[in-house]
Amino acid sequence: MARRSKRVLDAAALLNSSFFGYEEALIPPAVASEIRSRSHVLDALVSSGMVSIKAPPEGAKRRVVKAAERLGELNKLSEADVEALALALEVKGVLVTDDFHVQNVARALGIEYEPVTEGIREERRYVRICRNCGRKYPPTYKGKRCPLCGGPLVYSSNSELPST
Ligand SMILES: [Zn+2]
Repeated sequence: MARRSKRVLDAAALLNSSFFGYEEALIPPAVASEIRSRSHVLDALVSSGMVSIKAPPEGAKRRVVKAAERLGELNKLSEADVEALALALEVKGVLVTDDFHVQNVARALGIEYEPVTEGIREERRYVRICRNCGRKYPPTYKGKRCPLCGGPLVYSSNSELPST
């Protein structure tokens, strides 16, 4: 049960609603620019303290590139993938990704990973849900409005989940 609390997210994981249950969410700069090119949610998430941007050290990136080369996966990885892997390696975090190639390299480097949807099952019994866009936030989230769309947040129980 010794779960690592830091999560490193790739772009798909960040754009998915389930990551709000994470205690600490980090993304590297290359993932940040990938997200910025597709959506403007990121600045709101960073300023509300839900996500931090952290650059991985060069040494960690080199280890990732070497492992990917060895596995024949290097040409399948984007710069954002390499940085996400390197950051997870550096902070000993759990990498949240659905990308098969990224998971393959993570396994080789001993990086723990989980699919993007995994977070939903770990969520607390009560969550706050945006009535407008349906995104979920932890019950501890202070804001009254959804930082992504401005919709009102309401409390809701995870009644569809089996009780523990
Ligand atoms: Zn919303």
